[in-house]
Amino acid sequence: KEDDDMTGEEVKSMQKEYSLQSWSKQKGLNPIPVEKGEGIYFWDYEGNRYTDMSAQLVNMNVGFGNKAINDAIKEQVDKFCYAAPSYAVEARAKLAKKIIELMPDNMGKVFFTNAGAEANENAVKMARMYTGRFKIFSRYRSYHGSSFGAGNLTGEPRRYPLEPGIPGFVKFFDPYIYREAVPFESEEAATKYYIAKLREQILYEGPNSVAAIVIETITGSNGVLIPPKGYLPGMRALCDEFGILLICDEVMAGWGRTGKMFAFENFDIKPDIVTFAKGVTCGYVPLGGVVVSKKIAEYFDDNLLSCGLTYSGHPLACAAGVACVNYYEEVNILEHVNEVGEVLGEKLEELKAAHSCVGDVRYIGLFSAVELVKDKTTKEALVPYGKDPEGTMGKILGKLKERKFMTYTHENMILIAPPLIITKEQILEELEKLDEVLSIVDKEFI
Ligand code: PLP
Repeated sequence: KEDDDMTGEEVKSMQKEYSLQSWSKQKGLNPIPVEKGEGIYFWDYEGNRYTDMSAQLVNMNVGFGNKAINDAIKEQVDKFCYAAPSYAVEARAKLAKKIIELMPDNMGKVFFTNAGAEANENAVKMARMYTGRFKIFSRYRSYHGSSFGAGNLTGEPRRYPLEPGIPGFVKFFDPYIYREAVPFESEEAATKYYIAKLREQILYEGPNSVAAIVIETITGSNGVLIPPKGYLPGMRALCDEFGILLICDEVMAGWGRTGKMFAFENFDIKPDIVTFAKGVTCGYVPLGGVVVSKKIAEYFDDNLLSCGLTYSGHPLACAAGVACVNYYEEVNILEHVNEVGEVLGEKLEELKAAHSCVGDVRYIGLFSAVELVKDKTTKEALVPYGKDPEGTMGKILGKLKERKFMTYTHENMILIAPPLIITKEQILEELEKLDEVLSIVDKEFI
């Protein structure tokens, strides 16, 4: 039988038989066979329509079937698909220029990678080369990728299989005000506490050995943890005090997700290094990168940049990137995200007020998480950290899936981060479904 005659069931069973699925026990998997996609929707082979409420892995900001990106890829295919990084390529040059223009005025050059993990790996390498120091701070509630280096930057349990970790990689705690044992009087008080603790930790590690602090500007898959007022400027000041580089991982939060092109713009800071991936091409072709400050870029004028990838700045990916970034500007995506984000925020607050299972909602732009609890007063999580013995979160996802509302969960949290092109009407329609499911959780799961 020809491949193009395959049914959805055949696609699913063939994939399950021959390919390994990430982050899963392989037995009992039930992936939806995707036949086509358009905007925020995709369809299986039976014609069922699903809504993508997580923009796949918070990367498909423009949704499915963006014509401008498709056309740019095709045009590049017709010219040539690949040229080594040592050649000059129009799409690569244009995308690098565009990215630097979008960055603050201290930023200098881009090193392209294939995705987010590689961006973080190379950022750490560059920070070590530039500073001559070796320690790297990152946070417990973070995900920076699953390769060896990025996986060791990652603080949450997905780093465990890579341990014992890399010497000199040090973890500290994120500001997670909702779950702090002793409540803070204000955001400023929280900032004061977290920055003082971080300063103390740097002193105990020996500031002269610390090359960089790597943070997700807004912690993403670990629950959309938005830093309190003054926290990032406080961290910037600490870095300046000790000559440490501040690396903002914008892989998930960048490219318009928060209503600014990059999440750090919400907090009035300038990083030394920015890593990006996902929304730069929305996954039409994989691409990531490291943006370094002018100072760091100048350092590599006379010092060897000991980094390299066969596919650094792949022409097809860069062509997709140029079209994607141009598209963001043409449709004024930031204004749209802010408008629709306001509706999302209001609706999430309503859900929190209406449901006993919703302990907290956190949102910025179209980036949000709903944190589920057994008890609003004690804040006892719906499932204990690192465990879900009854498969409760899976069951909740199942209820959403029955309503064709597709997203993913992490620990006791549901992530809501749809494609940035979603309309107000669409988001309200989808949040009705979430409302229904939360009512079931109220009745049956707590
Ligand atoms: N950094 C952050 C903040 C991420 O969310 C991710 C992926 O979800 C990564 C890095 C890793 O990116 P990739 O999967 O493209 O390697």
